[in-house]
Amino acid sequence: MGFKSRAKKKQKDASDAKGPSNDIKEEYSGEVRCDVADCENWADKKIGGRKLAFDRAADVWGEDGLLGNSRRVTVCKSCYREWKKAKKDDPSEWG
Ligand SMILES: [Zn+2]
Repeated sequence: MGFKSRAKKKQKDASDAKGPSNDIKEEYSGEVRCDVADCENWADKKIGGRKLAFDRAADVWGEDGLLGNSRRVTVCKSCYREWKKAKKDDPSEWG
């Protein structure tokens, strides 16, 4: 417990000192961000990103859970997998 609160404080101090957006992952630098609000992955086509109709994506993440408001959203590979899994439980999609 103590560790957790200490880590949180440390994180806050660091962002106070350096400002936000300093902890971007360096391993891959893509061009397209995943449109799922709480996801920070890249969604470039070459690394498995997929485009979904906004409405179909909103069925899983909700409109508030998606960034942007175009008719199509781009999701990363893992979000697409999550979406597919969620849709599997929804027989209405498979009619
Ligand atoms: Zn994602």
